[in-house]
Amino acid sequence: MKVKITDQNESRIAFTLEDADVAFANAMRRVMMVEVPTMAVEFVDFHDNNSAMYDEVVAHRLGLIPISFDPKMYNFAEECVCEGKGCSQCQVYFVLDKKGPCVIYSGDLKSTDETVKPVDPNFPIVELLDGQSLKLDAIAQLGKGEAHVKWQAAIAAYKYAKNNDTKFNFTVETVSGLEPSYIVQKAAEVIGKKAEEFREQLKEVK
Ligand SMILES: [Zn+2]
Repeated sequence: MKVKITDQNESRIAFTLEDADVAFANAMRRVMMVEVPTMAVEFVDFHDNNSAMYDEVVAHRLGLIPISFDPKMYNFAEECVCEGKGCSQCQVYFVLDKKGPCVIYSGDLKSTDETVKPVDPNFPIVELLDGQSLKLDAIAQLGKGEAHVKWQAAIAAYKYAKNNDTKFNFTVETVSGLEPSYIVQKAAEVIGKKAEEFREQLKEVK
């Protein structure tokens, strides 16, 4: 199997995969999209909201904001030392406290970890009129796109190379706070882990 990167920038990576079959190419594509963990808002505690939008709608919008983070620094809540109770190794708090008139943007979310923040600070959340206010705490956690689309890491696609059904041209575009090259590497690691688990299970089959 041979991999060659043909194009790369901060949002997108293109590469060719040679001497592979369609099953492997498709497994890579699926894992890159829905099994590479990303960070997204999962819980929102509203203290004050008299904006034109219901709490649920604001919470939904917060969930869909891509958040950049260092994947080495965070655990899945259920695999964390805190056993899922929630701690600084598995969740990040965001605080929002604004009074109208103004438009609230993703950049108005203040994070407890300055390395974890919305990818784009200019994503509009809600407009507040004079006299309206919004005050909330939000908790972001790691998750996978297979559980909810808000955790989807990338959009990945491939095409067969001309006259060669063992060569695939891949394009991977990040839709999360992760770098495209990291998503490809992590997907390969996830597939490797699955194969390893399979091998371990086989040992028990006599
Ligand atoms: Zn924890």
